[in-house]
Amino acid sequence: MIFDKEQRELAKKIEEDISISKWKNWKWHIKHSIKDIETFEKLTSINFTDDERSKLEKTTEKFPLSITPYYLSLINPGNYQNDPIFKQAFPDPRELITCKYDMSDPLAEDSDSPVELITHRYPDRVLFHISNVCSMYCRHCTRKRKVGDVDYIPDREKIKTGIEYISKNTGIRDVLLSGGDPLMLSDENLDHILGELKSISHVEIIRIGSRMPIVLPYRITDELVETLRKYHPIWFNTHFNHPREITSSSRNALEKLADAGFPLGNQSVLLADVNDCPRIMKQLVQLLVKNRVRPYYLYQCDMSEGLEHFRTPVSKGIEIMETLRGHTSGFAIPTFVVDAPGGGGKIPINPNYLVSWSVNKVILRNYEGVITSYREPDNYNNICCDLKCAECDLDLNIDPAQEIVPIGLEKLLSDHDETISLIPEDCYRLNRREEDNEE
Ligand SMILES: *Cc1c(COP(=O)(O)O)cnc(C)c1O
Repeated sequence: MIFDKEQRELAKKIEEDISISKWKNWKWHIKHSIKDIETFEKLTSINFTDDERSKLEKTTEKFPLSITPYYLSLINPGNYQNDPIFKQAFPDPRELITCKYDMSDPLAEDSDSPVELITHRYPDRVLFHISNVCSMYCRHCTRKRKVGDVDYIPDREKIKTGIEYISKNTGIRDVLLSGGDPLMLSDENLDHILGELKSISHVEIIRIGSRMPIVLPYRITDELVETLRKYHPIWFNTHFNHPREITSSSRNALEKLADAGFPLGNQSVLLADVNDCPRIMKQLVQLLVKNRVRPYYLYQCDMSEGLEHFRTPVSKGIEIMETLRGHTSGFAIPTFVVDAPGGGGKIPINPNYLVSWSVNKVILRNYEGVITSYREPDNYNNICCDLKCAECDLDLNIDPAQEIVPIGLEKLLSDHDETISLIPEDCYRLNRREEDNEE
């Protein structure tokens, strides 16, 4: 139920004459976000010792705290130590322990940034960080280094630079509005940015990545939905990590978005002591599809500073994938990825299903452990591709502007590229060869 007894009591402590319409006003939540330990204690009646409080305050000096009253209302004060909402929202002094492998920018987003606000890593798509703020600061944020730094919404000039970059680079067909949380912008600002992007002819789709349906579902208003839907196709990705986050308020938000035709996806992060459990993950993905959200990615936790206590071994993710594939609807299964440190992008990881291979036979195993063989065709005419699509029998009907430039492994697989191996820049053996030749 929206605005139940507990929520009302909590809200009353913030503002005496609270009403349901105030509670459902997203700006009220932003205005009254909880930003210090003392207020948190007052509102939840959870009390820390002086020692605990001083450690927590030290933590928030480095990594600030911000929780929306709504998300706070989901915490169970009776068992907060084990509460997945609490752990995602409330500081932990372990954040200050820096581990020697930690990096402040593990994904090298800053190095892949050609202009401010843009991360351009993949050939045909970019991240456009149109907001530097969030309604809640997730403790597991991969951009933790930036949280609370410069709390601002970039001005029109900065946005314009980003839009110009996208419009000049005709290879960009997919623009991902990210942040911060892009839905921290006003409807008018979003309307402006989307309008500009929509007018760029090579931009085919726009994506919005927002955690509002989880931490502040009242942001998904009818007005917002009406604004966004003018710019279809827009894909909407959100970030549920635990079944407890799927409340009636967030279900309402998802319903509005799905009814307005946004394909919904979810990106979860695998977090120790929060959702590193096959049963929790299975329940989460099943609840998501029940609400028309397609689980998209399950991320291995990044190596950002202050996240050590959230990290699990990669094997935990593989174990979770093992318990999903075959055991539940295929479209409820996310792709488990490691976002490569240094900026290599997302790398999918799966349990091994390919057991062995001979010339004409592939040996596979299924989710039950049944080992099976698949016989490949004796005669398969592989078409040697010389990229002369006009003379080819396959009906590709390709837009001539869409040039194919093979990258990476694609080079080794293609017939029209002469590369036979990919060699690391600092290959010791080849460097020695060169040196020997020089002598
Ligand atoms: C994740 C990401 C994307 C989008 O990747 P998809 O696999 O297409 O969802 C684009 N750019 C950057 C920098 C990213 O980190």
